[in-house]
Amino acid sequence: MADSMSVNRALFDEVMVPNYSPSAVIPVRGQGSRVWDQQDREFIDFAGGIAVNCLGHCHPALVDALKTQGEKLWHLSNVMTNEPALRLAKKLVDNTFAEKVYFANSGAESNEAALKLARRWAIDNFGEHKSQIIAFKQGFHGRTFFTVTVGGQPAYSDGFGPKPADVVHAEYNNLESVEALISDNTCAIVMEPLQGEGGIIEPISEFVQGVRALCDKHNALLVFDEVQTGVGRLGHLYAYMDLGVSPDILTTAKALGGGFPIGAMLTTTEIAKHLKIGTHGSTYGGNPLACAVAEAAFDTVNDASVLTGVTNKSARYFAALNAINEKYNVFSEVRGKGLLIGAVLNEKYQGRAKDFLVAAMEQGLMTLVAGANVIRFAPSLVIEDELIDEGMARFEKAVAAVTAG
Ligand SMILES: *Cc1c(COP(=O)(O)O)cnc(C)c1O
Repeated sequence: MADSMSVNRALFDEVMVPNYSPSAVIPVRGQGSRVWDQQDREFIDFAGGIAVNCLGHCHPALVDALKTQGEKLWHLSNVMTNEPALRLAKKLVDNTFAEKVYFANSGAESNEAALKLARRWAIDNFGEHKSQIIAFKQGFHGRTFFTVTVGGQPAYSDGFGPKPADVVHAEYNNLESVEALISDNTCAIVMEPLQGEGGIIEPISEFVQGVRALCDKHNALLVFDEVQTGVGRLGHLYAYMDLGVSPDILTTAKALGGGFPIGAMLTTTEIAKHLKIGTHGSTYGGNPLACAVAEAAFDTVNDASVLTGVTNKSARYFAALNAINEKYNVFSEVRGKGLLIGAVLNEKYQGRAKDFLVAAMEQGLMTLVAGANVIRFAPSLVIEDELIDEGMARFEKAVAAVTAG
């Protein structure tokens, strides 16, 4: 019986595939940027469900959209279209470079669609030889076999047998390394406009512009994976808007649904036409519940005061982290943009990002890591300034504990 079952961390090891290693803490409810666990311990959330909860937990506009749609229509499949999907697509088109939208359920699926579309476009227009995909070392694009192969972390892609072919990796922020690989056989360059999982690495703007120019020169598509950077995270609706270039294909997920699973691929009419009827699809893609919540999230985030707020809150994070560093000397650098921030551990604390995360949890603060050396912060875009301060006070205690130990 559900009532008599003890639901705890031990049950995870009993019934779940062991590909994750979750915290012992099991949260049961959240409100804004606070979360409570089974024992009613309170946590401040600087993790945002990995850059997903752009409006915190249980934002009233999202709860309302979910409830309203939940009493109307849940699912149709793509045999029929639906109003929330059409409304959301129209808003995405009206507010970006894009003219066409494809809905998926996750970042990986959005990227899978982008990669398949790029290949189709190149093969239709130029022939079978034009299949090379250039991506970047330390890049991350999801966990399907195609996206993990395009991602630049062999630890994630190796050991599963033969990989999709003709995928190569250049160095991020190194235009010569791209020049050395690109040719008229290149169909696409795939990049994050700030590497997230790879360690919060910002692109140099000349590098991005150089990549765009190389794509144009070689008739290759530029694909921006904005799964983590999109929907206001860096202080603009999409990161490309502040880089002086437009991609040909853009993928968005994570914050798009504010916590409800949804992803999308955005592109132009000219490119989109190569995904002809029947060439690609998804049962759940464009699901009415997901699109209704995403529409509410989009309307809330796509607001000048929310986006300006991201930049102001970012400065507050940087100031607090730099102040902590002055006292404890733990970071070599605090980097990132908007509310995607990485505190990079210095020589003395190499490989210990997880220790800081665990110590922060003990102080009632949720954080993230990006690799072994970077503590990552990806909070709600509307987190209250007082909660940033309170969370940073907790983080300082965690840093004090780790450095004392
Ligand atoms: C998280 C992430 C993905 C994968 O998204 P999923 O929803 O986990 O499939 C892809 N690209 C980037 C840049 C990401 O940060």
